Amino acid sequence: MKENKKEKILVTSALPYANGDIHIGHLVEYLQTDFWVRFQKMKGNECLYMCAADTHGTPVMITARTLGITPEELIEKNHKKHVADFSDFEVRFDNYYSTNSPENKEFSEEIYSHMVSNGHIESRFIKQFFCEKDEMFLPDRFVIGTCPRCGAENQYGDSCDKCSATYSSSELENPGCALCGTKPVEKESEHLFFKLNHFKEFLKEWVKDHTSKEVTNKLHEWLKDDLRDWDISRDAPYFGFPIPGKEGKYFYVWVDAPIGYMSSTKNWCDKNNRDFNEFWKDPGSKLYHFIGKDIVYFHTLFWPAMLRNAGYKTPDGVFVHGFLTVNGEKMSKSKGTFINARTYLDHLEPFYLRYYYACKLSSSMDDIDLNFDDFVTRVNAELIGKITNLASRGVQMLNKIDSTLGTVPEEGKALIQKAQEKAGAISRFYENRDFSKAIIEIRGLADLANRFFDQKKPWETIKTDPETTKGILTTVINMFRIIAVFLKPVLPSYCQKVENLMGEEPFNWDSHKVILENHRLKHFEHLAKRVAAKDVNKMIEASKEAPVSQQPEKAFKPEPLAPQIDFNDFMKVDLRIAKILEAEEIKEADKLVRLKIDIGLETRTIIAGIKQAYKAKDLVGRQIVVVANLQPRKMKFGTSEGMLLASGPGGKDIFLLAPDSGATPGERVH
Ligand SMILES: [Zn+2]
Ligand SMILES: [Zn+2]
Repeated sequence: MKENKKEKILVTSALPYANGDIHIGHLVEYLQTDFWVRFQKMKGNECLYMCAADTHGTPVMITARTLGITPEELIEKNHKKHVADFSDFEVRFDNYYSTNSPENKEFSEEIYSHMVSNGHIESRFIKQFFCEKDEMFLPDRFVIGTCPRCGAENQYGDSCDKCSATYSSSELENPGCALCGTKPVEKESEHLFFKLNHFKEFLKEWVKDHTSKEVTNKLHEWLKDDLRDWDISRDAPYFGFPIPGKEGKYFYVWVDAPIGYMSSTKNWCDKNNRDFNEFWKDPGSKLYHFIGKDIVYFHTLFWPAMLRNAGYKTPDGVFVHGFLTVNGEKMSKSKGTFINARTYLDHLEPFYLRYYYACKLSSSMDDIDLNFDDFVTRVNAELIGKITNLASRGVQMLNKIDSTLGTVPEEGKALIQKAQEKAGAISRFYENRDFSKAIIEIRGLADLANRFFDQKKPWETIKTDPETTKGILTTVINMFRIIAVFLKPVLPSYCQKVENLMGEEPFNWDSHKVILENHRLKHFEHLAKRVAAKDVNKMIEASKEAPVSQQPEKAFKPEPLAPQIDFNDFMKVDLRIAKILEAEEIKEADKLVRLKIDIGLETRTIIAGIKQAYKAKDLVGRQIVVVANLQPRKMKFGTSEGMLLASGPGGKDIFLLAPDSGATPGERVH
């Protein structure tokens, strides 16, 4: 990019689905997009960050139905939560809209009409599972049955969790509707297909110049063969936009989801009196999408084809990132590493994660790992120890003289110049989304400044030579200030405190060229506190309990209420608080765990079928509720002297009942 000409840039992150919570895996994308957009804005470019809620599709419809609300109400509820999460993580969209909007309907119909008029739509009848009880066609994810490869039960209709096989739902043995369990029937229905292969030659050329080498190589594997037709229609009932002229047919959610980028822009343009075509037709402006590697196909094949066919500009770049692992593994609910944005915010400062992700992110598709030991070390040793301490030590010492910067001595000038000369390299790293490399350079500057501070020993010279000391501190504080300018895309509110301290206007990229001399500092406000490992642990504990809506498709239908009983009947059941003293997984059994529990009056052995839901070692020390007067039951692996209370359908989905803190083993529950 040219240094002087101001660019017009439109940037998007993938639209978060309106059915669940934002978690720290999602934030890998929103934070890096935010770093990049803030950097562009600091450079003086007009850079718009557009996003929206992805609202349509079967999961939203089903979740709403289960909750007894309308899809619109569900969307609205989650919209508020998502906006609050993003805002608290300092992700600053220029517009956050919704795909369930009049603009989006209009664009979807327009883009579809071009598909039809240019001869890229074909209609065919296909067979699909249909649930006669729910009166709907079942997407693969809504069919559950036995894996045709390995025989594992209770698997989704598209892939097996156990053996990772992928298949279509018609291959499942013993298929059942995921909503009601009924055996579905195969039924024929008309579907509309987009002939993606008509765009193959265009796409072959296009991907080379608009994605990374890594992505291009992957795409060329697909582009070697003919591209498959894309089924863009779904049958009613469906939450989405009706297809014009096709009664009972709706656009598949993936048709109108990326169009949400356009409708969010349109909505922003209307509010700001700007011309939409500046961003979506003018070849002089740039369009960039940040996406995860799981949705490459949609954004680099379907999407450019749809745009080109409808006469809009195609993306200038699609930036693809990897997934997040936590402590080296896939995020896990049972390990407490499936962490919702809100749970994080309840325990930790958002800028810790912003800094940490910046330390790890590159322009490649590699996964990034959040290791919590590393997280604590990096924040405390680098961001606080190396960087923030420059300001707190320097300013507090200067305040002992007169809170006013003096002049920078020759030696200090050379140091500051070194920092200023790094601006080009750091700027290029930001531009190329090599955030980790930008941070390494910035940290290197902090090392230089710390070395200077330690060599000059201002804490000694201050006693005898305040003027020289002032020169040293002026150098160090100017170094810190330049570091803050370079960190601003990553740490906006932290840098705002630095701007306040310096008594300056908001930094832009050129602020690094300034040297502050003979300048009175404002009141020193604490910039950042250290992260405490115990808070990280609390967050992990809280995540173990937090409801995580990762698989909302397996919708829940409560069983009918049991017949009424009187109070005496209820009191016959002796429920007690118990504490788990020991827990041991029974090797020979799939589901069983042997527990030794304290029920206040005595210790008991209970054999419980919770092995798939809980690890034995995580159970020790927990309080639970047990039926204490149930007849002991002889089982293959011993006698069970009671029953613990839990809910859930079984398998991995078992949820133990626990008292609030303060309860004591032996207390009766009533
Ligand atoms: Zn399998
Ligand atoms: Zn059903």
